Amino acid sequence: PASCGGGRMNTNEMRIDAAFKELKMPGATRSWRPLIRDAQTKGQDPGVFLAALLESELISRRENRLRMLLAEAHFPEAKTLDTFDFTAQPSVPKTKVLALASADFLKQRESVVCIGPPGTGKTHLSSAIGVSCIHAGFRVRFTTVTALANDLLAARDNHTLTRAFRKWQRYSLVILDELGFVPLSRDGAQVLFQFISDRYDNGKSLVITTNLEFSKWTEVLHDPQMTAALLDRLTHRCHIFEHKGESYRFRESMKKKGRN
Ligand code: ADP
Ligand code: MG
Repeated sequence: PASCGGGRMNTNEMRIDAAFKELKMPGATRSWRPLIRDAQTKGQDPGVFLAALLESELISRRENRLRMLLAEAHFPEAKTLDTFDFTAQPSVPKTKVLALASADFLKQRESVVCIGPPGTGKTHLSSAIGVSCIHAGFRVRFTTVTALANDLLAARDNHTLTRAFRKWQRYSLVILDELGFVPLSRDGAQVLFQFISDRYDNGKSLVITTNLEFSKWTEVLHDPQMTAALLDRLTHRCHIFEHKGESYRFRESMKKKGRN
């Protein structure tokens, strides 16, 4: 005996329920019975009922897609722009960041580089921009530079590097966190060069966070000529944010201590 919250279903209700399930309409499957009851009690026009039913399905699909996109992005923490304190980071202008949050920069094939010392909100800001791009409907993937290099090196050893690049190309935005924190091997730097030029050639955006100013990138990427070529591509259409000052967490904890 099938039941759906509101007791036993008659034959017709079972047909409706089975159809919505087979059509994979989770929102409609959940809401058709309460909506029918509502329509009956209010003597609603069938058109009003149908619109409400379709909208409940649309809402549920949008929510599912959003959940799926957020999960596949692998953000370390669910940081958003609402919780970013722009007054603490005056060299990161709010209007510019809000413009990026519209995700237009992805269509313009632009990239973003966040430069600054640890704790100054680079990961927070880049994740928040990523979350905004997801809300605008784009696929986003967050990774550390080290994890990406390891992924690509493993693919290269398996002779599947081309496939790995294709996999990464599915994302409209890749956020590469922490360039320069951990030294890269020469091979690691080599595949990173390939990755970044592959994205550039395909008009795909990147957000890179780093503690190193551009002049020091050779220190982790080893090859000065390759680094120059990479910077040339990366900075061609690029928004650069210079995060400054002391660690935000450190400053916040000092403020709290000062209050005690
Ligand atoms: P970074 O990546 O530059 O090392 P994080 O983004 O990890 O720094 O920031 C460290 C912590 O401080 C995080 O919890 C982050 O949310 C918080 N934080 C840093 N800057 C800000 C800011 N301007 N507004 C709000 N929180 C911030
Ligand atoms: Mg960080």
